[in-house]
Amino acid sequence: MMEWSQFVAQEDTPSRLRSMFSRRGLLKAAGASAAGAAVANFHGGALNPKDTEPIVLAQEDEDEFEWDDEFDVVVVGSGAAAGSAAVTAHESGASVAILEKTESFGGTTAVSGGTYWIPNNSQMRAAGLDDPREDAIRYMARLSYPHMYHPEAENLGLSEHNFRLIEAFYDKASDAIDALDEMGAVRSIVDLESPDYHAHLPENAAPFGREMNPETEEGGSGSGGELIVQLRTAVEDRDIPILLEHRVTRLVQDEDGAVVGVEVQTPDDETLYFGASAGVIFGTGGFTHNSTLRREFLRGPIYGGCAVPSAEGDFVYIGASAGAELGNMQNAWWTQVVYEQVLDQSSVPQTLWQTPGDSVLQVNRFGHRVMNEKMQYNERSQIHFNWDPVRAEYTNLLLFMVYDQRTADEFAGWYPISQPDADDSYVIRGETLEDLEANLQSRLEELEMSSGGVALDEEFLSNLHGTLNQFNLFAETGEDRQFHRGEVPFEESFHNLYGPAPEHDYPNQMMHPLSEEGPYYCVIVCAGALDTKGGPKINENAQVLDAAGNPIPGLYGAGNCVASPAGQAYWAAGGTLGPALTFGYIAGLSVTDDIEPSDDDEPDEGYEEEPEDDDANDVDEPDEEEDEVEEDDDDDDDVAAEPQDHTVEIKDDLTFDPEHIDIRVGDSITFVNVGQMMHTATCDPDRAFDEVNAQMPDGAEAWHSGNLEAGEAWTYTFEVAGDYTYACIPHEVAGQVGSITVEE
Ligand SMILES: Cc1cc2nc3c(=O)[nH]c(=O)nc-3n(C[C@H](O)[C@H](O)[C@H](O)COP(=O)(O)OP(=O)(O)OC[C@H]3O[C@@H](n4cnc5c(N)ncnc54)[C@H](O)[C@@H]3O)c2cc1C
Repeated sequence: MMEWSQFVAQEDTPSRLRSMFSRRGLLKAAGASAAGAAVANFHGGALNPKDTEPIVLAQEDEDEFEWDDEFDVVVVGSGAAAGSAAVTAHESGASVAILEKTESFGGTTAVSGGTYWIPNNSQMRAAGLDDPREDAIRYMARLSYPHMYHPEAENLGLSEHNFRLIEAFYDKASDAIDALDEMGAVRSIVDLESPDYHAHLPENAAPFGREMNPETEEGGSGSGGELIVQLRTAVEDRDIPILLEHRVTRLVQDEDGAVVGVEVQTPDDETLYFGASAGVIFGTGGFTHNSTLRREFLRGPIYGGCAVPSAEGDFVYIGASAGAELGNMQNAWWTQVVYEQVLDQSSVPQTLWQTPGDSVLQVNRFGHRVMNEKMQYNERSQIHFNWDPVRAEYTNLLLFMVYDQRTADEFAGWYPISQPDADDSYVIRGETLEDLEANLQSRLEELEMSSGGVALDEEFLSNLHGTLNQFNLFAETGEDRQFHRGEVPFEESFHNLYGPAPEHDYPNQMMHPLSEEGPYYCVIVCAGALDTKGGPKINENAQVLDAAGNPIPGLYGAGNCVASPAGQAYWAAGGTLGPALTFGYIAGLSVTDDIEPSDDDEPDEGYEEEPEDDDANDVDEPDEEEDEVEEDDDDDDDVAAEPQDHTVEIKDDLTFDPEHIDIRVGDSITFVNVGQMMHTATCDPDRAFDEVNAQMPDGAEAWHSGNLEAGEAWTYTFEVAGDYTYACIPHEVAGQVGSITVEE
């Protein structure tokens, strides 16, 4: 049995997997070591829900409570969601600490392929690919809630809550990736070649260009290990403390229910308390390795999956104990795994990203094919949940991946087909189909205590003969009239996942006839999860909601530990890390909404605070710019002729303040970045995403501030009268647009 520490990180993007073999050493170092260490040093076990009741501080005790340490923001977990949240909160001026329960930084993210799906990202736009908002939201809504979706219904038929989350993802995803880049946290590179998993659906108007990866130093596409290295470096550069082997077990709330800190357990049975004056952000992964939550909530039976072992659903208990409403608990990022491996250990390093080869079939205990075997893992896995109401059984609980000697030779090593000399006891062999049936049946008898007694039907063998004959006829014509194998664009990209698949002369490269002679082979597979995606519900600000739909003050979440905005869908490769990074970023911004920047963070170069409106000394200057123009209109020409200096603030809530300003020819505007993120003030049709946001009168020239870091300012003098519309380029699509009227 392969251990995590031997594992070469897997990926769910074809172009990345194709290049994996040349980068095997790097991936091993970056991804597998993190996972291996997590297993070796993990002090886990599911929490007891009774021990997660929050501690509530009476008002009179609040000042007396002895914290072991205090921060503005405590971030729990250390994967994509937590990392993104931590650097964003810090960038916004907060003091931050990261608490991670294992001895390793990075969670499941560290062993992932590192692909993140970012609709309308700035790099696809720069490459000339459009991803209009309405279409992208339609695609996501259609896949996430297919039983509710209607293109003409309000909110496309979705609940308002679910619709808002999808909107927020579209609106903020590109900003999040650009901001992480600007913060020096994660450099990204776009993949313009790999199609979305549902590129063929009519709702998909931008099937290419939404997949991104962390960019390596050499300019290549990095894995989850690279993502974690970059996030961790950004965390360390900011001196954000990382406290490993610190497992958060419950919340501390004030009398009004606001979360003000956490209780932590260490492996030495120490109990510590960390204060978080602004809030606590959870990014603690799902519950793949909590057998109780799996059994009670998932919509079909699974035995484990590929998430790191610490994915035990801690936030389900901790959040629920604080009154959070749970959502999306029935869904997971499904994948198929080898049954005997996942029985051996719930956390398995390998999964069936694809059904390898061109003639491999998956049949059930009746010997029938049940799916297009070349479809992607998330969709294939759900076939296992098929319920037969007459037999009262999951007819596909276990499926049998059948192949011949040609496949064993040509696709050796394409998991789960083993290398010729490997000791893979999960592969069952038979000289003939009869022999294979007998050996499979005895293996099932050995496993019956864990499978609910799955056994082959007495018609299995004759049906299997029929299934093979029919598939071979389909392969001759190239048309799979049963399951349409090889007909959608995605299949080809994953067919070549581990390198170019050997070609053959039959009309459909996804279909080659099975040999009429043995030996034959079989692997038993079942449903599993990359991780689950249900937990406390959040709103579009990543605030955790209570049963009445109100935010629990001070409590935020992102990634697999909360109810995913994706609902039941896996939109594309990167469909899990994209929302994790985005909602981590949103949480980092939301939690710091009320934090005043410290003196150190105040802009200091050439920027003076605007005088207060009620400043008694402010007699010579009008309070409002509008008033100023009106007064100038009415008053004597000498005053009006004097050019005026105006100030427009550029803010992190993605506004210009004032949003519109009236000035006169000859006046100047100083644009000041009063936020922490990088912004611009730009009126240039060549730079704007949409020309509507770069309007100017005839005779005027385009203008652009360049990148303005926190506190920086830039001044422009207006010589041509007329109406101007301008934008902050990184945040234009998120609506950071302003306007100016210049009068004669
Ligand atoms: C092999 C593989 C390849 C994958 N490839 C991709 C891919 O290319 N693209 C994609 O989108 N998805 C991919 N996925 C899925 C993706 O990796 C996960 O969905 C994602 O990493 C989850 O990120 P997260 O931040 O929510 O949680 P995680 O990365 O799992 O981080 C959670 C962290 O929280 C810690 N934690 C848990 N409880 C506590 C507690 N009580 N106190 C303190 N710390 C705690 C955990 O130990 C863990 O370190 C892949 C998954 C696997 C297994």
